[in-house]
Amino acid sequence: MGKKCIVWNCKTGYASQKNLQVEKIPLYKFPKDLEHRRKWVQNIPYKITVEEITENHAVYALHFRNDVPLKKVGRYWAPLEPPLADKNDAPKSQ
Ligand SMILES: [Zn+2]
Repeated sequence: MGKKCIVWNCKTGYASQKNLQVEKIPLYKFPKDLEHRRKWVQNIPYKITVEEITENHAVYALHFRNDVPLKKVGRYWAPLEPPLADKNDAPKSQ
């Protein structure tokens, strides 16, 4: 554990969401490639810069397109597209 979804107002992973089977929702780490990472950060309404992203930052699969293509990177699956900005119900913070 330790990783969590950084999307603003995301309640996934909190005990209050008892009906969600949180364990089964994949949590995707940010890509290592800086250009890819920048696109992810742009679509996430959270005050964070590309440089501040660490191994402990992640985004739940539900913030991505349902059929987002995945690529295996080491032991993990990595989405090939950034999260969807309009799947987040918060205004983008600047
Ligand atoms: Zn989330």
